[in-house]
Amino acid sequence: MDSKNKGLNTICTHVGELVDDTYKGATSPLYMSTSYAFEDVDVKRYPRYFNTPNQQGLSKKIAALEHAEAALIFGSGMAAISTALLAFLRVGDHIVLQRTLYGGTYNLVQEEFKKFGISYSFTDGLTVADFEAKIRENTKVIYIETPSNPLLTITDLKGVAQLAKKHGLVSMIDNTFASPVNQNPIDFGIDIVIHSATKYMGGHSDILAGAVASTEENMKRIFSLAKNLGGSLSDYTVWLLERSIKTMGIRVRAQNENAMHMADYLNKHKDIDKVYFPGLVTHPDHELAKAQMKGFGGMLSFELKAGFDASKFQKALQLIKSSMSLAGVESTVLSPVQTSHALLSQEERDLQGITDGLIRFSVGIEEPEDLIADIEQALNKVRPKAVVTTH
Ligand SMILES: *Cc1c(COP(=O)(O)O)cnc(C)c1O
Repeated sequence: MDSKNKGLNTICTHVGELVDDTYKGATSPLYMSTSYAFEDVDVKRYPRYFNTPNQQGLSKKIAALEHAEAALIFGSGMAAISTALLAFLRVGDHIVLQRTLYGGTYNLVQEEFKKFGISYSFTDGLTVADFEAKIRENTKVIYIETPSNPLLTITDLKGVAQLAKKHGLVSMIDNTFASPVNQNPIDFGIDIVIHSATKYMGGHSDILAGAVASTEENMKRIFSLAKNLGGSLSDYTVWLLERSIKTMGIRVRAQNENAMHMADYLNKHKDIDKVYFPGLVTHPDHELAKAQMKGFGGMLSFELKAGFDASKFQKALQLIKSSMSLAGVESTVLSPVQTSHALLSQEERDLQGITDGLIRFSVGIEEPEDLIADIEQALNKVRPKAVVTTH
């Protein structure tokens, strides 16, 4: 089905689906073959060439969701990120990256780029001027992440896209936290959109995958490296991911609503110090978030008041699990200092504003009353006697 003039949930459900001509089944047939007879010499189908029927079908859906001409699906978010970056960077080049980055991307840059002869700069802040300040003569790529992990900062999509165009650079975004439901960076002029499909696209904490979407021309360049690096996704998982994305629109919109509810509740709570959520009018970038996002997402972070032990609080939660990863239909919390940002130095954490007591909350689709009841019982269990609470 063509995606033209189709709304989000129709794209999620139908675009790119494969037709079962033989049995007229309701879902896309799954083609597990790793070997295909030659149709002609030019068409060589092979899973690592990203061109099996299921891979091609799902790529169309993801391209449509991101308002892009084309997309590729990868074996993980990091396979998507590393392939996209290395397709546009070579020895002698320089890249400007946003300071607040997903831990894995930060590690990729810090641990690997030197041996490829690629130099890099992290921005000091998140304004467009902060990005411009780091551009050098040999800069080729600007890389951003908004909303960012774990403090949900917002970067100006249009501003960064225009800056990149002014200097002839390629702009890339990790759009994982927003998902295509809440943010379509290509509409604001960003060149390349990357996802860890392990998160909202998968949505059930049972798929590891990634995706990149852009113009046909950019995707050709990414493909020519991707087939050599070999980070494609096996067809069974492609098929599962197609099934997951069918409900992404309704899942993520429910998570948006729940996260807003939880942010309001936490923001008014006497035991909570700070809440980081772009949907709150008190968020410093609320207006910017409103201008470039259709929903504020399902992620938020908060800090308990001084005297609380954040790890005891997380252990006291019963319904909300303390766990790695995010974006599943189940609510989870984690401590960035102990997990995603454990490898950063204290100095780097201070620079990013990540405190020991910070708790990242991935809000699921449970009833908000049940989430609140769980948080209340956990707070009651761990509330320090000495804390005098004022409302
Ligand atoms: C999880 C995540 C990644 C990495 O994705 P994997 O699928 O784990 O490789 C990249 N960026 C963000 C923002 C993520 O949350």
